[in-house]
This record gives sequence, C-alpha cells and structure tokens, in this order.
Amino acid sequence: MTSWTARGGLAEATVDLDAIAHNTALLAARATAPVLAVVKADAFGHGMLPVTRTVLDAGATWLGVATNAEALRLREAGVTAPVLSWLHAHDEDFDAAILAGVDLGVSSAEHLERIAECATRVGARAAVHLKVDTGLRRGGADHTAWRALLDRAAWLQRRGRLLVRGVWSHLGAAGAPAASPPVGTQVRAFELALREARDAGLDPELRHLANSAATLTEPATHYDLVRVGIALYGVEPVAGRSGGLRPAMTLRSRTVLVKKVPAGEGVSYEHRYRTSGESTLALVPVGFADGVPRLASNRGAALLAGRRRPVAGLVAMDQLVLDLGRDEANLGDEVLVLGPGDDGEPTAAEWAAWAETNPHEVLTGIGARIPRRYLGGARATRELEELSLV
Ligand SMILES: *Cc1c(COP(=O)(O)O)cnc(C)c1O
Repeated sequence: MTSWTARGGLAEATVDLDAIAHNTALLAARATAPVLAVVKADAFGHGMLPVTRTVLDAGATWLGVATNAEALRLREAGVTAPVLSWLHAHDEDFDAAILAGVDLGVSSAEHLERIAECATRVGARAAVHLKVDTGLRRGGADHTAWRALLDRAAWLQRRGRLLVRGVWSHLGAAGAPAASPPVGTQVRAFELALREARDAGLDPELRHLANSAATLTEPATHYDLVRVGIALYGVEPVAGRSGGLRPAMTLRSRTVLVKKVPAGEGVSYEHRYRTSGESTLALVPVGFADGVPRLASNRGAALLAGRRRPVAGLVAMDQLVLDLGRDEANLGDEVLVLGPGDDGEPTAAEWAAWAETNPHEVLTGIGARIPRRYLGGARATRELEELSLV
C-alpha cells in the first residue's frame, strides 16, 4: 500500500487500534463490572467497525450506540455482541432493531408502547433498558413518569411482549467534581429508582450509570455495566488527571503552498492576523469542514519541522495558514495537526481548549473527507479486509 503522500493526498487520519485495545483493557481492569464500549458517531470519528472489532477483542462485552441505524450497521457487518441503542423517535419503526436483537433504551411510555407494538407485529420479544432521569434533565423518565413506566413495562413483560433487561441513567458531571449535578445525588436518585423497579415486580439483570469519568473515579457507580466512550479513544475524561490512557487519533497534513510576506501583512479572511515581522506562511489544506475548529483561529497551532507554529488568522472551510516566522519550509512538509502529543503536537484536549469545547466535539468533528488509516489491531484489520470494509 502506498502512503497517502505518494498518492498526492492532502491529509490523513491514522487510528492506532493498539492504543484503543490498551485503553479498553485498562478500563476493563479498573471497572468492577463488564464494559460497554460506546461506538456511536462512527466511534467518535475513529471508524465504527475497526474500533468495534478491536474493543471486543480487548475485553469489552457490550456495544453502545445512539441510533438504531448505527446498531443495524453493526449487525449488517456481522457483529453479534450485545448492542444497546438509546435515542429514538416515538414513532420509529423498531421492527428491524428488534429482529436484529438490539436492546433498546426507553425513556417514555410512548416509546414503550411503540416498541411493544412492533415486537408483537414481528413476533419477537424486545429487550429494553428503562432509563430514569436522575438529575441530568436530558433523557430519561422524570420521577413522576418513572412509576407509570415501570408498571406498564412490568405488565408488558408478564405478557411476554418484552423483557426489561436493564435500568439505567446517565451522569451529568462525573469528570468535573465541583460541577452539578453531583454524582452522589444522582447515585441516590438511581438507588430510589431501582427500589421502585423492584416494587413494581421487575428484577433487571443490568443496572448501569457510569460513563468514562465515573469508570475511572467513582467505583460506586459501576453496578453491572460501565458505559465508556471518550476514554476508549485515549482522552483523559477528568481534566488534569493522567491515568495511562493512549490517544488513538493522529491528524496529519502537509504544506501545499509556502510564501514569504513582509511585516504587518494581514492574513486570511478579514485580515484578523498581522505578521509581526517578515514571515514565511505555510498553507495547510485542512479547515473547519475537516474538523479544525474555526474558533481556534489565531489560537491553535500545529507542528511543522519539530516546532509548534501558530494558526494565522481565520481557519477557512478547507484550509488554514501557519506563520513560520523566520523559518523556511518546503512544499509537502509534514504538518502534525493533532495527535497523542508525544512529539509536541497538539492533543484533542488542547484543540478543545482553544475552541472552547470538549475533546468529544473535536474528535467527532474530524470530517468524512479525511481518509482513515488503521495501525495495529492485527486481527481486527485482517477481518475487516476480508469483508472489504476498509
Ligand atoms: C456518549 C455516551 C456515553 C459515553 O460517555 P463518555 O463520557 O464519552 O464516556 C455513555 N452513555 C451514554 C448514554 C452516552 O450517550
């Protein structure tokens, strides 16, 4: 296989599957419960199928996605591991997901009725995980709706229409200990919701609450399953902590134009940047459509010839400019935009700080235009090649 540069490419994202395997094993060792690997949003931009093979090989036993379309993509690729999806329209057609044995997160009575209807129609039992809102105030049934949801689910279970496999909730601030809602408050609300489930005659096999941050720092939230996302990809979920995770994503590009300009020149749209002296400017063909945040204009940096070079002026849709100061550069010089940080290149967490967002948004933002190449994960990549999926 020729390298991306030999093929005249503009940029490439490499995904280190060995790093993802390492992170999976590390999380599995920390957790007191089995690991559900969250592979939604194309595995946070890393590629859902290669990541799925890798995490299952490395010890994850469940998979989690937001939508049924994502869950069905896994099944179509031959993935037989348990899958949970959790974001659905009330009037969605659940038939295919039920037939494919996808477990369904349920936050409302309307969703529950719809799922029961679909299950009856296809003649299969749907497995559901009832979601309670323990304080995040996003998904999940609130406390008044919870009792009714439990009663109805218990009734449908007694009639063999569905199986309540899980009861679950989602934390709002596990990575930011001083923030709200406090983890302890959510755990107490979850405990109450579990007691109410028992009172309704339900005995769910899987209770789950923890995300990545809680998996690493809050053992009381592990219950029967932990749902890990960002940490799988090697990003430390608790700011300031360093726990041996290895970032998997590297985004590389190269210069496509180099020019010298005098001091005081305005650069890029609206001239929001001016050169402080005579400068070499390098044009790099990645922009906000590729995931370089526009908010990182005049703030971000990328590594070229071993040094960080500031992003000069506004990041455009397809390109950005680096100011190399007095240094020279050649056409085709490698530019490390984002990576593990081992050679001094910026990390996803640094781009997130420049763009006033979180690393999740930076990683999921790496655009479809950037080809992915997979390193390591021998078994995972071999299987995918056989299926012609990479
Ligand atoms: C995305 C998501 C996760 C993963 O969260 P991380 O903080 O990335 O570990 C877990 N559970 C649910 C319900 C999610 O939507």
